[in-house]
Amino acid sequence: MITTTIVVYAEAVMSKTHFRTCHLCETMCGIAVEYEGDKILSIKGDPNDVLSKGNICPKATGLQDVHTDQDRLKAPIRKVNGEWQEVSWEEAFEFAAEKIVSSQKKHGYNSVASYMGRSIAHNLGSLIGIAPLREMLKTENIFTGSTVDQIPHNYAWQFMLGHPYFATVPDIDRTHYFLMLGTNPKISNGAMMSTGANPQKKFKEISARGGKTVLIDPRRNESADYVDEHHFIKPNTDALFLIGIINTIFEKGLATPGRLEAHIKGWDKVVSALKPFDMATIEKITGIAAEEIQRIAVELATAESAICYGRTGLSMVEFGGLCNWLMQVVNIITGNMDEPGGLMFPLNAIDTVGLQAKQGQFTFNAFRSRVSQRPEFAGELPLCVMAEEIMTPGEGQIRGLIALSGNPVLSMANGKLLEEAFDQLDFMISVDFYLTETTKHADIILPPVGPFEKSHYDLFYHTYDTINWSKYSPRLFKPEGKGYTDFEIIRELLKRVAAKRASGFKEKLQVKAVSKLVDIALTPDRIVALGLRFGPYGPGLNPFKDGLTLKKLKDNPGGVYLGPLQRSLPERIFTKDKKIDLAPDFYLDDLPRLYDRFYGGIQEQMDQDTEFDMTIISRLTHRTLGWMHNSERLVKGKHACTLLIHPKDAEKRSINQNSTVTVTSAVGSIEVPVEITDTIMPGVVSLPHSWGHNRKGTRKRVAEAHPGASLNDITNEKVVDELTSNAVVHGVPVKVELKRVAVAS
Ligand code: SF4
Repeated sequence: MITTTIVVYAEAVMSKTHFRTCHLCETMCGIAVEYEGDKILSIKGDPNDVLSKGNICPKATGLQDVHTDQDRLKAPIRKVNGEWQEVSWEEAFEFAAEKIVSSQKKHGYNSVASYMGRSIAHNLGSLIGIAPLREMLKTENIFTGSTVDQIPHNYAWQFMLGHPYFATVPDIDRTHYFLMLGTNPKISNGAMMSTGANPQKKFKEISARGGKTVLIDPRRNESADYVDEHHFIKPNTDALFLIGIINTIFEKGLATPGRLEAHIKGWDKVVSALKPFDMATIEKITGIAAEEIQRIAVELATAESAICYGRTGLSMVEFGGLCNWLMQVVNIITGNMDEPGGLMFPLNAIDTVGLQAKQGQFTFNAFRSRVSQRPEFAGELPLCVMAEEIMTPGEGQIRGLIALSGNPVLSMANGKLLEEAFDQLDFMISVDFYLTETTKHADIILPPVGPFEKSHYDLFYHTYDTINWSKYSPRLFKPEGKGYTDFEIIRELLKRVAAKRASGFKEKLQVKAVSKLVDIALTPDRIVALGLRFGPYGPGLNPFKDGLTLKKLKDNPGGVYLGPLQRSLPERIFTKDKKIDLAPDFYLDDLPRLYDRFYGGIQEQMDQDTEFDMTIISRLTHRTLGWMHNSERLVKGKHACTLLIHPKDAEKRSINQNSTVTVTSAVGSIEVPVEITDTIMPGVVSLPHSWGHNRKGTRKRVAEAHPGASLNDITNEKVVDELTSNAVVHGVPVKVELKRVAVAS
């Protein structure tokens, strides 16, 4: 008994706690990592974190599985005669740099493309490395995961406010009316609204202060339990619902631009452009009664403060561009733009938005993709064209790819086509610490260090803050052996490519000197320190000013609170004429596409001509993110990759709770087990995304044991939002058939 007590006491004394930000999503929760030596004992919420105050979701605990994961690559591997071989970092960097330089020398700069997965946005080193990497590659073939996700939001911010990253953030802590479309904050914990997890508590607080929360979604999803009202809506019809809201507000004379009236243009244009969309048709198409839409519009317009907010259900759809524009219109015409309780803008400690604006306007349509002529936006091409750009011969064909994290084979529409395309590349370089469905196609994989083996600062996701605050997370563990951070990998590649391109003694000497300087002077922490010092809250060069510095953040491991969101318009309107554009031609010109589809009989004709009588939508799950499927503690228990189907649709097809079904679309079919539930509307089925770990040649043993099916084996890269080229993952026509019925033992 005495011995046991002593052992327990000794363990308690030896363990330490490290505080950092969970970098897995934009919610940015504070975690307390209890560790002993290099062993993590537990991961819990940090009650002293300024934003999350101890709240976390289960995903954070999976980080310890990533830390200890035997499948996580710690050294570069190179494919030789189809077999992976561990190689030295020296060989890996030389191989990668040589491939880039020789391909571009022979076939031109555009012959090498880059892809950056969404997790790059959570990664300090990669974010800092992106600009110089793009500069070095000099290619137009730049792709990211944004065009399978949120790019329609960025378009709206660009065309209406003049800056694609000037995010409009719901002031959830002060609002009196929260209308949400195509979103599930209970599961996403925010998304474009960094709430520090537990947004459902904030929904309750809205109701408690006399306000109201309304959710519009084809699923009565997990958030529905916490809101005052939920309405089913047919997928891909949210644009019409929003037009119904806007028309009602105008018709009832409830439009009130408020403080910003003198800074808004295009008011009359919106009124006349949306008039032809009558309410009776909107009711028929959306499935929501006209009186309900009108009531919600009046409630929203007359609330003390209100927010109209939407996420992937409004961006990964065929009218995603229009949806995001209309959503902003609702907020602007009700006087809720840049007002407490409405949509607001954080002022970040490192003001990336302001710094980018100083460099001039972002581009749109400065060039087009070679094969299907899709326009670039903010310097990148949509991911929907990557496969054809690789597979179509001709000048400018992509022959080499450098892919930084992400797993587009599972996350991009028609992932199987991407696989075919990757196999046709002359070379592929991946920066990733897993052998995934995507990286298995690479010739070389350069693995960055693990999540606890580098420092962290959310350079990008603070732009979604619902309060102004700042936090820095130091490195916890030293990597095993010679570990390179993402930043160091990019830096090393840049140096070697520059050295190989240099010609003549003098130029080579210059490159060598600059490389040495970069090695010594350029580190992510130094850049963060500078950004903070000269940012809006920093002391600048004044040694007597008590401003925000990196040291201050290090002294406050839970972060530093910088105050509630403040009004920032009109000063921070970034359009050339300093006006908020309520009616950009870019959107007005796309309205006929919406009108013809639903008022001109195109949708009716499509419904008649097709064998696909159901619509599939994607969904998030509570415990998993695609790249975390190798965490045992996250995938254990009831399998998450099931197809939700309404009882009526199940009955029609003789499907029962034990059934596995075949889901078929225009591009392929998958088999999945079903879950019969009336939380999904009839005619719609739902499957989580980023599953499908049944491809051969990966090395993620836990994920392979829980493979699921990939939604993107049945989505079509050719079906996109024509305005923004964003992939369509919600609202794909499918048919569902019984595959087999499990016989009870
Ligand atoms: S919501 Fe979950 S995954 Fe996102 S930051 Fe918080 S703990 Fe991490």
